[in-house]
Amino acid sequence: MKKVITSVLTLGLTTLTLTGQDTTNLTTYNVPSPDGKLQVALSQTANGEIQYAVVLDRDTVVMPSSLGMQTSIGDFSQHLKIAKAGTLIPVSDNYTMNNAKRRNCSFSANERTYTIQDSEGKPVWDVTFHVDNNNVAFRYKVYDRGDRKACVVQEERTEYTMPDGTRTYICPQMTPQTGFARTAPSYETYYEYGAEMGKNGHGRGYTLPALFHTSNAWVMLCETGVDGDYCASRLTCQGHTYRVAYPEQTEFGGIGSAAPGLMLPGLTPWRTITVGRDLAPIAETTIMWDLVKPLYAAASYYKYGKSTWSWVIRMDGSCNYDEQKEYIDFAAELGWQYVLIDAWWDTNIGYDKIAELSAYAEKKGIGLFLWYNSNGYWNDAPQGPRGKMHRMIDRRREMLWLKQAGIKGLKVDFIGSDKQQTMQMYEDILADANEYGLMVIFHGCTIPRGWERMYPNFVACEAARVSENLAFSQHDNDIEALAATILPVLRNSIGNMDFGGSTLNKHYSKNNQRGTERKTTDVYALATAVLFQTPVQNFALAPNNLTDAPAWAIDFMRQVPTCWQDLKWLAGTPGQDLVMARQDMHGHWYTAGVNAGKEPLTLQLDLTLYEVGEQLSLYIDNDVKPIKVNKKRTLRVTIPANGGFVIK
Ligand code: CA
Repeated sequence: MKKVITSVLTLGLTTLTLTGQDTTNLTTYNVPSPDGKLQVALSQTANGEIQYAVVLDRDTVVMPSSLGMQTSIGDFSQHLKIAKAGTLIPVSDNYTMNNAKRRNCSFSANERTYTIQDSEGKPVWDVTFHVDNNNVAFRYKVYDRGDRKACVVQEERTEYTMPDGTRTYICPQMTPQTGFARTAPSYETYYEYGAEMGKNGHGRGYTLPALFHTSNAWVMLCETGVDGDYCASRLTCQGHTYRVAYPEQTEFGGIGSAAPGLMLPGLTPWRTITVGRDLAPIAETTIMWDLVKPLYAAASYYKYGKSTWSWVIRMDGSCNYDEQKEYIDFAAELGWQYVLIDAWWDTNIGYDKIAELSAYAEKKGIGLFLWYNSNGYWNDAPQGPRGKMHRMIDRRREMLWLKQAGIKGLKVDFIGSDKQQTMQMYEDILADANEYGLMVIFHGCTIPRGWERMYPNFVACEAARVSENLAFSQHDNDIEALAATILPVLRNSIGNMDFGGSTLNKHYSKNNQRGTERKTTDVYALATAVLFQTPVQNFALAPNNLTDAPAWAIDFMRQVPTCWQDLKWLAGTPGQDLVMARQDMHGHWYTAGVNAGKEPLTLQLDLTLYEVGEQLSLYIDNDVKPIKVNKKRTLRVTIPANGGFVIK
C-alpha cells in the first residue's frame, strides 16, 4: 500500500496527513463524495475507539461517533487500531425498478475499506464506507478467529452523535407484546415534529427511518440490505447520541434471539446517512436500493395497479361473499385492477366461495389479494386464516391453492418483531410466494430495507400509522393532514408504504353517516394518492362514492397512476406542509401539496416541471379548473387548512 492518504478536514478534531505505512500515529482518514462536498472522516481515539464523522462542506452533520461491536468471540469496540486503509475506489451503477419510487436509478460513489485490528494485531473487522454526493453508507465485515467461524453479535456500538441544537423527526419504538393482541412493535406511533434531542422515546428508543434537522442541514438515518442473515435495528438515545440497537428479547412472544448470529467472515447490513441542505436529497434518495441486488428472479410478470378494500370503511362485518362481490363490481366500474379481501374470509366466505369470487373477478379484469394472519405462536391475533404462513410446508400448500384459485397476492399481518428469525420469515414468505407468482404486502410489520429491489414480488409494508387509525380514532382524523407532511419525505423515501387511504367518505362507516369523521378535504384525498407511494394502492374508496363524492374526484381516482417514473421534493416543513411532484410513466408530472396548518397557506409554486403555455388542471378548493402555465412558470395557490392541491 502506498500513499493512500488524504486531505485534511476541518473537523475540530486533530487532523494529520499521513502515509498508509505510518498507521501507528494515524488519527484521521477521509472518504470524499465524487463532488467533494460530503466527506466521512475516520479517526482513532487515545483509548483505541474507532470513530467516524460526517461533514457537509465545512459543517459537521454527524459528530465523531463510535464504531464497533461486542460479540460472543470478543469485544471489538475498544483497544482497536486502524491497521490499513484501502484505496479510494470509484463505484457506479444504473438499474431499473418498476415497483419503487423511481424507475431509472443510478449512482456514482467512492468506496474505501479500513481494516481494524485488536491489541494483539489481529484483524477484527473491516468497515467499508460508500459515499455519494448525498449519502454515506457503511457496513462491517467481521473476521473469523481461527477456528471460530460463527459468532453472535451481542451489541453494536455504531453511533450517530448529532450536533447541538439538532431537532428530531422520529417515531418512538413501541413496547413489545403490547397493543392489539400483543402484536406490537409495528411502527405505528405518532411522529415527533421538531422535538429536542435527549429523550429515549417512550423508554425504548426510536424506529427507522429517523430524520434530524441540524442548524443548517437535514440528516436521515436508515439501514438497508437486511435479510434473514441479520436482525433489523432501531435507535436508542442518550443525550445527543443515537445508537444502533437490536430488537428487544420480549419481541415475537419472547421467542428467538434478539442478537443476530453471523457466519464468519460475515457482513452486517448497510447503515445509511442521507444528507441535504433541504429535504430534496432526503425524499429523492435511492440509497436503499443502490446497495442491494435482487436475491432471486421474478418468477412471474407482476402487474401493479389500483385496488380497493371494504375493511377500512365497513370493517370485519363486510368480509362476506355479497359485499366482496359488490367491491369487485365497484373496482371494475372504476377501471381498477385489484380488490383486497381482508381478515376472516376463510370462515365468513370459505375457500370454495373465494375461488368462485376469484373467477368472477377475473372475468371483470380484477385480481384478488387475500389477507393472512402470519401467526404462528408469537401473539394472540385471532383473525383467520391462521397457521398457514409460518411453516414452509403449510405455506407452500396454501400458496399452491392460491395460485390455482387465480389469486394475485397476499397481505400478511401481525408480525411484530425485528429479530433475525423474523427477518428470515419475511424472506421465506416472499421467496415462496414468488414461486407461486404471488405478490406480498406486509402489515403489522417492520419497514422494508431495500426489499423493493431484493425481492421482486414485494409490494409494500404498512409500518406507519395508517388509515386503519382513521377508522378507529377521531383524534387521528383531527390531525390527519400532519402525517402527509412527513410520510412522503421520510417513510416513503426508504420504501413502499401501504397506507390504504384517499378516503372520500365523510364518515368511516358503510352508511357514511356514523363513525369517525374525516376533517380533510376531498382534494386532500387526491393529493395523498400522489404523495403516498406504493405500486398497488389499496384506496379507501367505497361503492357509495360513485354517487356521494364529486364526479371530478372519482374521475381523478379512475386515472391516477400507482407506478411512477420519478419524483421531486419541492417545498415544505414536516408537521406543517409539503409540496412534491411525481412523474408518471408517460413523462407527465403531477404536483401535489398539503397544508396541515390551522390557517389557509398561500404558496408561490415553481412550475418549471411544465412548459410555458402548457394547459393543466388545478384541483383545489373542492373543485377543478383549467390553468395555463405562465411565462415565469409560477403559480400562486392558497391551500385550505387540512386541505391540499394537485396540478396535473
Ligand atoms: Ca396496522
